[in-house]
Amino acid sequence: MKPVMSADIVIIGGGVMGTATAYELTKAGLDVILCEMRNLGSGASGRCGGMICHCYGRENNLDRVGERLKLTRYNTEMLKKTQEELDIDYHVRITGLLDVWINEEEAEEGKRLFELEQSQGFVDPNQDIKILDRKETLEVMPTLNPDLVYGSRFRQEDGNLSPYQLCQSLGWGAQKKGAKILTHTKVDKIVIEDNKVCGVETDKGYIACKWVLNAANGWAANFGGETEVITPIREIACVTEPIGPVPPMPFEMQYGGQFAYGGTQTATGNITIGGPAHPREKRVGFYNETIWMDEVRRLGNYMTGIFPKLKDVKMIRSWVGTMGFVPDAQPMIGKSSITEGLLIAAGFVAGISLEFAVARIIKELITLGAVEWDIDMSLYDPGRFRNNKDWAAFKWPYPRDIGISGDYSWAYKQGKADEFKIPYDLTAKR
Ligand SMILES: Cc1cc2nc3c(=O)[nH]c(=O)nc-3n(C[C@H](O)[C@H](O)[C@H](O)COP(=O)(O)OP(=O)(O)OC[C@H]3O[C@@H](n4cnc5c(N)ncnc54)[C@H](O)[C@@H]3O)c2cc1C
Repeated sequence: MKPVMSADIVIIGGGVMGTATAYELTKAGLDVILCEMRNLGSGASGRCGGMICHCYGRENNLDRVGERLKLTRYNTEMLKKTQEELDIDYHVRITGLLDVWINEEEAEEGKRLFELEQSQGFVDPNQDIKILDRKETLEVMPTLNPDLVYGSRFRQEDGNLSPYQLCQSLGWGAQKKGAKILTHTKVDKIVIEDNKVCGVETDKGYIACKWVLNAANGWAANFGGETEVITPIREIACVTEPIGPVPPMPFEMQYGGQFAYGGTQTATGNITIGGPAHPREKRVGFYNETIWMDEVRRLGNYMTGIFPKLKDVKMIRSWVGTMGFVPDAQPMIGKSSITEGLLIAAGFVAGISLEFAVARIIKELITLGAVEWDIDMSLYDPGRFRNNKDWAAFKWPYPRDIGISGDYSWAYKQGKADEFKIPYDLTAKR
C-alpha cells in the first residue's frame, strides 16, 4: 500500500483525549497525525457538561479513589497551566461540586466513604471535601428542591470548564507546534502485520506509522482487539435560556434511580444540565446522536423535579452524546497486550479530568518505554479482560440497555439494578 503520508504516531479521535495527547506528544518532538472523522469535539467531548470531577461521589473502591486522585489532581494543574501556555480561556473554574444525597441511606454511605478517604489521607476536610447538612446544602445551591435534599458532600476542588473550547484549543495548540490535524478523515482500519502496527487505512488514503493511539472512546470497539468490551452509552444534555446569575455550582445526584449532573452556568447566563438517556434501538442505537421529543420532555420533567425554580425557564437546545463504557467502569489506558505499537486511551465516562494525565502516560510509554509516574497502571491495563470472564455479566445488551454508566454498574453490583426505573411521566406537560 502506498502511503499518502507518514508519521511517528496516528491518533484516532479528536476529543479531549486525542487533542491533549497530540499537543503533548508534538511538544515532546514526535511527528503526530490526528484523524477525526468529523470535527474536533464532535464526540462526547464537545457535548458533555464539562464538569471537573476529581473523584466520583459514589466510588466504593478506595484503591481506585487514591489512584484517580493522583491523575485528576495532576490534570487540573495541567489544565490551568496549558490555558496560560496557549493564552486561551477555556473557562476552568474551580467552583466546588455538590454530591447531593436525597435520603438518610445515601448520606450514611457518603459519610462512611468520606471517613475512609480521610483516614487514608486522600482528602483534607478543610481543603478538599466537606460534609454539609440540608440547610448548608441549600445555602450553597438555593435552586435545589428543598424536599429532595437530605445533605451533601461538597467537593471543593471540583469545578467546570468549556469542553468544546478545550478540544478546539488543544487541537489548535498541537497544530501550531507541528501536528497534522486531519478533520473529516475517518480511520477505517488499523493495519497490523506480524502483530505489529504499520499504519492506518483512512477514507483519504493510507498513513504509515509506528504507533497508533485508539482514542475513539464510544467508537473504540470498532477497531476490535481488547477494546471490543467497550460499549457505547448514550447520554443527554440540555441548555436553558439565559437567566440571571445563579451560583455556578455543578452537582451530581441519584434521583428516581437515575443519575443527574450539571449546573454549569456559561458566561452568557445559560445553564447546562445533563441526565439519563436511553437507547433507541439495540446496540447501534447507542451511536445515534439524534434527540427525540419524548427524551426532551422526560429530561425537562426530571430536571424541574430537582430544580423547581427552573420550571418556567425555557430549554433552548438539547442534544445527545455517545461515550464509551468499560465493564469495570475504569478506562483503558496503555499499551495493547496483543499488538505491538498499538496504544489505547478509551472508555471514559468522566474524562474531562483525565486528558493531560492520559497524555502523560502515553508520552512516557512512547518516549521512555514504560510509565515511570508512580501510578497503578494495572487498574487501566487494556488487557485486563482477556482472561477474565467476569465481565460477561455486563455483556451487551443487558444491563447496559438502561442508560447510565459507572453509577449503574455500582447499583448493579449491589443488586439494585431493578431499582433503575423511570419514575416520571413521559406524557406530562411541563
Ligand atoms: C451528555 C454528556 C455529558 C457528559 N458530562 C461530563 C462531565 O460533565 N464531566 C466529565 O468528566 N465527563 C462528562 N462526560 C463524559 C466525557 O464527555 C467523556 O468522558 C470524554 O469527552 C471522552 O473524551 P474522548 O476524547 O475519549 O472521546 P470523544 O470526545 O467521544 O472523542 C472520540 C472521537 O473519535 C471520533 N471517531 C470515532 N471513530 C472514528 C474513526 N473511525 N476515525 C476517526 N475518528 C473517529 C469521534 O468522532 C469522536 O470525536 C459526558 C458525556 C456526555 C455524552
